[in-house]
Amino acid sequence: MTATIAATVAAQKAQVAARRLRFGLAERRQALADLRRAIIAHEADLQAAVAQDMGKHPAEFTLLEIVPTLAEITHARRALPGWMRARRQAGGLAGLGTVARLRPETKGAALIIAPWNYPVSLALGPLVSALAAGCSAVLKPSELTPATSAVLARLVASAFPPDLVTVIEGGKEVAEELLAQPFDHIFFTGSPEVGRIVMAAAARSLASVTLELGGKSPAIVGPGADLTRAARWIAFGKFSNAGQTCIAPDHVFVADSVAEAFGTELRRAIAGMYPKGLGSPDLAQIVSPRHAARLTGHLAEAQAQGARLVLGGASEARRIEPTLIEALAPDCALDREEIFGPILPIIRYGALDAVIGRINARPKPLALYVFDTDRSRIDRIIAETSSGSVGVNLTLLQFSHAGLPFGGVNSSGIGAAHGHWGFRAFSHEKAVLENRFSPLSLLFPPYGRRARRMIGL
Ligand code: NAD
Repeated sequence: MTATIAATVAAQKAQVAARRLRFGLAERRQALADLRRAIIAHEADLQAAVAQDMGKHPAEFTLLEIVPTLAEITHARRALPGWMRARRQAGGLAGLGTVARLRPETKGAALIIAPWNYPVSLALGPLVSALAAGCSAVLKPSELTPATSAVLARLVASAFPPDLVTVIEGGKEVAEELLAQPFDHIFFTGSPEVGRIVMAAAARSLASVTLELGGKSPAIVGPGADLTRAARWIAFGKFSNAGQTCIAPDHVFVADSVAEAFGTELRRAIAGMYPKGLGSPDLAQIVSPRHAARLTGHLAEAQAQGARLVLGGASEARRIEPTLIEALAPDCALDREEIFGPILPIIRYGALDAVIGRINARPKPLALYVFDTDRSRIDRIIAETSSGSVGVNLTLLQFSHAGLPFGGVNSSGIGAAHGHWGFRAFSHEKAVLENRFSPLSLLFPPYGRRARRMIGL
């Protein structure tokens, strides 16, 4: 495998200099159109593969995998002329008599490593940005979604020559081999643990990185929240894809004064969305038996330590019912680790200070959700905490907003994706300064009286 991987990357790298000259606006737009055509041609195969890998409902597949990817292509094709244009920059005194421009240039050969939870959009979304920026790309999907990975390989091969884009399938070993290659940029989506490995590997060749990671994203339901709305958005955000969403609310803090009423609304929302519990057709399955066992093990541990099951708890093979749990012991696995499954701890609070303190004492989350109608409380939470993004009275939707970057901060991620930010991740912004009549030459040595006078000595 090593020889194949090295040869593939060498072939892509060999094209970097030539591509710089011939992969302009028209060619990039064409590549994006080719990608769109290939996605549409393989949509049915992708849907079947994702259903096989994850049991995702076709509507959820279309809504959360296909629609955002095609929207990203449409947006990039439309905005590309503006993104690619060199921008004039104003300068201070030192810029007198010069013309400054910021010129985005392609970084070159990119590696994209994707996770399994949205195996289509999190593989092809970064590819859209790479192609928009004029990069070649090696795409490595997750080994945990093998059927989808195989369709992605066919889809990419139908649209692109391997020295422009290719899929290399495999697990950790293949990823390690790829990380040993001299890529110019590495775009990784996955867990913070593997993110550290990727960043250490990138240090060897000083490749730049975008790390789209995870963590525990809290939701806060304040005393002024519209509880029906909060419950529906939280249930949607948490239980879509069976909780296997990087920006799903991991746990919910709810103000004491509304905790009972919110609990009722949340149970009602869940019953409305998944009326048959485990047998609900809209409930996705857990990606692997190992992950299902991890979740049921954590749930059993929490209950053994005194946590109270409020709803659900049943599981069968790779399906776990939407589950609500209260009174979690501090430091049990559900409290410590990103849950990444359909189990939602509810934590009652009296003082907002304590909630903010607790969030700030932990790694910075990828997303934070606030449900309230009180502007000053909403603003206070936004101002006093740090997270990749904030959703106010909604969940997940910030991922799809074309005008917003998507990314984390520190342990939830480095850099950003989507739209212009994705294009910039795969581009180098080259500073170009041109001399017209810079007066600096008057100050060249020897430092005579005139130079000393000019700098005030
Ligand atoms: P993961 O880190 O286990 O795997 C991601 C990718 O890394 C896979 O392709 C895998 O083959 C590869 N990999 C695994 N071990 C590796 C190693 N030692 N060296 C190099 N590569 C290796 O993540 P996952 O389980 O696929 O996804 C779940 C995690 O991803 C969660 O933490 C979730 O929050 C996060 N996530 C983040 C985003 C985001 O956009 N920020 C999106 C989806 C998922």
